[in-house]
Amino acid sequence: MRSHRHRHTMKRTDGLHGRSTAWAGPYQIGSYLENAVRFAHLRPPEAPGVYVISERGWGDLPDRSCGLLYVSRAAYVRLRIGQLLCDMCGFTSDGPKDEAYQHRGGHQLWHSYCTARQVEPLSLYIGWSCGCACLDCAELKLAEMLTIRLNVLTVRSCASHRPPLDLAENCQNKTGTFFLRRQ
Ligand SMILES: [Zn+2]
Repeated sequence: MRSHRHRHTMKRTDGLHGRSTAWAGPYQIGSYLENAVRFAHLRPPEAPGVYVISERGWGDLPDRSCGLLYVSRAAYVRLRIGQLLCDMCGFTSDGPKDEAYQHRGGHQLWHSYCTARQVEPLSLYIGWSCGCACLDCAELKLAEMLTIRLNVLTVRSCASHRPPLDLAENCQNKTGTFFLRRQ
């Protein structure tokens, strides 16, 4: 399996083997984009899911020590992550309060985090999951772990689960093949 061999060369904070959760990443954004063609099969799915930006990598799941900066969900994760990356790398309007952007979170990450703290966007980490049983619960649990507030997140409570599902249970890799599936 070609993809399996190459995967070791992508800068990640851990290995993919024995993974029990349906999370892709964490990938350092710069390293991920350097290998866009080579790792084309690792592109985010064109499917509903949740995605995050963090200061550091994590293990099986995003956690409280990875410096979670941004959490969101989308109907089409691939398209939305593309818009996020564009804005968070500075391809957005000049003022933090300007409304000309594709992705509000990316716009705020650029203005309120990256330029404000002189942090290069490509040094940050990204990950996503399209395998969670309940996206409402996943977003809620991830939002609880945010280390900064960019005031862009509107988290809805979950109408189906009280209390919300635990993130690990919610995002189990039930098939065991999620990360090896070619697109
Ligand atoms: Zn739920």
